[in-house]
Amino acid sequence: MRAFAYDRPTQVEQAVAAVTADPQAAFLAGGTTQLDLMKDGVWTPDRLVDITRLPLRGVMAEGQLLRVGALTTMEQLAAEPVVAQRLLFVREALLAGASTQLRNMATIGGNLLQRTRCRYFRDPSVSACNRRSPDSGCAAVANTARMHAVLGVDERCVALHASDVAVPLVALDASVTVTGAKGQRDIPLTAFWVRADEGPSIENVLGHGELITEVRIPLLPERWVSGYLKVRDRASYEFALTSAAVAVRMDSGVIGDCRIALGGVGSVPWRAREAEELLRGTRPDPALFDRAGRAVMAGAYTLPGTAFKVELAVRTLTRQLTVLMTEATR
Ligand SMILES: Cc1cc2nc3c(=O)[nH]c(=O)nc-3n(C[C@H](O)[C@H](O)[C@H](O)COP(=O)(O)OP(=O)(O)OC[C@H]3O[C@@H](n4cnc5c(N)ncnc54)[C@H](O)[C@@H]3O)c2cc1C
Ligand code: SF4
Repeated sequence: MRAFAYDRPTQVEQAVAAVTADPQAAFLAGGTTQLDLMKDGVWTPDRLVDITRLPLRGVMAEGQLLRVGALTTMEQLAAEPVVAQRLLFVREALLAGASTQLRNMATIGGNLLQRTRCRYFRDPSVSACNRRSPDSGCAAVANTARMHAVLGVDERCVALHASDVAVPLVALDASVTVTGAKGQRDIPLTAFWVRADEGPSIENVLGHGELITEVRIPLLPERWVSGYLKVRDRASYEFALTSAAVAVRMDSGVIGDCRIALGGVGSVPWRAREAEELLRGTRPDPALFDRAGRAVMAGAYTLPGTAFKVELAVRTLTRQLTVLMTEATR
C-alpha cells in the first residue's frame, strides 16, 4: 500500500473541509471497501479523512420517518426493533449482506457508496475499464461478465450495483442528507446513483468533499407486509445474482398498493415501477406476477454471461410476491 496522510476530525465541518481542500483525499468509515481498493492499488488517495469520531451514529424515529446516522453499522441498524416491526425487508436485506464481522464494521453510509465488485475494475493490471479510466474500453463486455448488470448498462460498462440494503431503500423512496462546503442538501436515493449507460465513470451525484450525514427512511404504514429475497451462488457471504424487495398492502383481497425494487440486475438499485403499476388494484395471480417481472426486464442489455439474469429476476420477483401475498391475506 502507498503511504498516505491520515486525519481523524471530530466535527462534520472539519471532515468536509479536509476532503474538499484536497482533490486526492477520501473519507474513511468502516474501511471494508476503501481499504480493499487501496490494498489492490485501484484507488490510492493521498489523504484519508477518518470519519468514525464524528457524531453520526444512532437511529431515531421521528413520526413516520426513521433517521439513521451515516456511521450506524449495518448490524446496529438491523438490530433496531422498529426496523423489524416496520421495515422488515430492510432488516432482511441488511442481514443478507456480507458476514457478521463485516456488518459490525460496515456503516450504512459506506454501504451506499461501495464500489462495484466488477473483477476487471478491481484489477489494475486490466487496462480496459471505462469506470476506472475513461475511454479505455470495457474488459467485462469482451470477456466474462456473470456478476454484472443487465439494466441501465450498455457496451461501455455493465457494472453492477452490489448493495443489498439499497434495494428496499429505493423501494421506500428513502433519501440521504449530505453536507458539503456549500451547506446541506437532501437527495432522494432514486436520483442518487448514475446509471452506467448515462456515463460509466460517474457513479453518483455527490460532489468531492460531500459527506452523507444521515439516511432518512420512511416507515411502512401499518398493515403493510414486506420481504427481501436474495438469490446467490452460496447460502451466505455472497453478493446477489438477483434480488427482490417487495412491500405490499392488501385491501379486501386486492393489491391496494405496492413498492418493488430489484437488486443484482442494475447498474443502480432498480426501482420496478412498471411492475408496481401493473399490480396495483389487481387480485394476486402468479401469471400477472410473471408479466410484471417481464415488463421490468424488457429493456435488458444482455451478454452471453448475463442472459440468465432476465429469467432469474422474473422468477425471483414472482416468488417473493407469491410468498408475501400468502402472508398478507392470512
Ligand atoms: C467480502 C465482502 C462481502 C460483502 N458482501 C456484501 C453483500 O453481500 N451485500 C452488501 O450490500 N455489501 C456487501 N459488502 C460490502 C460492504 O457492505 C461495504 O463494504 C460496506 O457497507 C462499506 O461500509 P464502510 O463503512 O466499511 O465504508 P468504507 O469502506 O469506509 O467506505 C466506502 C466508500 O464510501 C465513502 N464513504 C463512507 N462513508 C461515507 C459518508 N458518510 N459520506 C461520504 N462518503 C463516505 C468512502 O470514502 C469510500 O469511498 C461486502 C464487502 C466485503 C469486503
Ligand atoms: S463493467 Fe464497467 S467497471 Fe467493469 S470493466 Fe467494464 S467498464 Fe470497468
